[in-house]
Amino acid sequence: MSSYPAKIIKAPNGLEIKQPLGLFINNEWVKTEKTLDAINPSTEEVIASVYAADKEAVDKAVDAAQRAFEDPSWSDISGSDRATYLYKMSEIIRRDSKIIAAIESLDNGKPYEAESLCGDLVEAADIFKYYAGWADKHTGQFLGSQVFGKDRICYVDPVPLGVVAGIVPWNFPFDMMAWKIAPALATGNTLVMKSSEITPLSALFYGNIALEAGIPKGVLNIISGYGKDTGYALSSHPNVDKIAFTGSTATGKKIMEAAGQSNIKKVSLECGGKSPFIIFQDCNMKACLEWAYTGIFYNKGEVCTSTSRFFVQDSIYDEFVSKFVEYTKTHAIVKPPFEKDCTIGPLVSSAQYQKVKKYVDLGIKEGAKLLSGKFLEGKGYFCEPFIFANCTDDMTIMKDEIFGPVVAISKFSTIDDVVKRANSTTYGLAAAIFTNNITKAHKVAKKLQAGMVWINSNGDSDIHVPFGGEKMSGIGRELGSYALDLFTQQRAVFVNLDLPEEQ
Ligand code: NAD
Repeated sequence: MSSYPAKIIKAPNGLEIKQPLGLFINNEWVKTEKTLDAINPSTEEVIASVYAADKEAVDKAVDAAQRAFEDPSWSDISGSDRATYLYKMSEIIRRDSKIIAAIESLDNGKPYEAESLCGDLVEAADIFKYYAGWADKHTGQFLGSQVFGKDRICYVDPVPLGVVAGIVPWNFPFDMMAWKIAPALATGNTLVMKSSEITPLSALFYGNIALEAGIPKGVLNIISGYGKDTGYALSSHPNVDKIAFTGSTATGKKIMEAAGQSNIKKVSLECGGKSPFIIFQDCNMKACLEWAYTGIFYNKGEVCTSTSRFFVQDSIYDEFVSKFVEYTKTHAIVKPPFEKDCTIGPLVSSAQYQKVKKYVDLGIKEGAKLLSGKFLEGKGYFCEPFIFANCTDDMTIMKDEIFGPVVAISKFSTIDDVVKRANSTTYGLAAAIFTNNITKAHKVAKKLQAGMVWINSNGDSDIHVPFGGEKMSGIGRELGSYALDLFTQQRAVFVNLDLPEEQ
């Protein structure tokens, strides 16, 4: 495999990276006519141009996945054997994590050490290990004498869906792929995975990982491409059985439409959010400041669950706001992602930079008070985090998902009022509460419309725990044992025992 299309890239930390450029289809690296550029958000320069999948390449990838699913089938081997492959993938990811983290930080702009290496890459390796453990344990159900008496038995077998197409965004490019690939492979499906056109580089390393782990031909295919053509070709493809999507709610709607037109694909969606953070007067202020900061500014605010609306109880409003501004000023170190003390890298792209700018201008125009934050001069999409106070529910920055380092802070007085306001959004992904009153915390948690609620923390996610949203934030739950259900369907087999005796 020494001659596959690749480019040698030198990362700012001295690592030399052999970046694959082709599409990974049927265990081969494939070129196409069209390419797309991966831009370094710190320098605005092209890092590499990768091959983009056209309709023909999508067909090829789906065909390969279909053949691998049918005969000899990936799903026909035992769960323990599939687990062996997944363990190998986990080990390779762990071994190569510095290289993959470096390409991730170059392409996405997230801090190399703290976020790419010690966050995303550790989680991705852990996810493969975790689902390796599940591969022979999603065992179904047997219904016998206790249900039917003497004349009938039934078993319920969770069988794989077939060809899964995974479509992911740019904020956790490598890790989001792991969330889908690992449980789908563990349960016997084959895959075609599409990266985001904004950050196509790290995904292609899954090709090398699959080859080294000995994954059979066609079981895992990785393609790059734009949403409107490659993404659409996948979501409307008649031979794709399931779409596992992470991205915006607007695209989620288009995917559901395309999935329904061609065949009735199973669809799971992890979409956007505008999560509230409710801060009560009896909170532990020191801890609250730390979690508030992480909750909105981790990964430059480019996190679906980021708590971008703060509701602060009126009696501590002024104290919280002035302390939060101070905290942010000392902790937000905006720099290129390979500098040791960087805590906030550049926004991912020029489009995202313009989007954040538009919302900051709107915040000011609509009367919110800008307490801190600015766009930095020079090359790269750098900005200091923006803190808006005195926000009201009618302001655009309180309603729209910005997906950047912008927080809108507002005041509340009663529990009923804040719960109503926190829920008055079409999204329902996450919510956080800070209070020392345990009863109040649980009562409020019960009323919040969110797939995940954090009490005295913010932004937690864990491979054992279901992740997903209510309302327009999505359909289905990833991670934990819940992801196994996303990639299997229950086959019920009845056996009639009430036959005449044979002599
Ligand atoms: P996006 O919807 O623009 O793109 C996501 C993916 O969909 C990309 O791979 C893109 O190429 C593809 N795509 C675009 N149009 C398509 C189409 N018509 N058909 C098929 N595929 C298409 O989202 P983004 O800007 O990459 O990511 C940001 C969004 O992702 C935010 O809304 C964020 O909240 C959401 N997100 C959600 C989660 C979650 O778990 N809930 C996690 C991360 C990001």
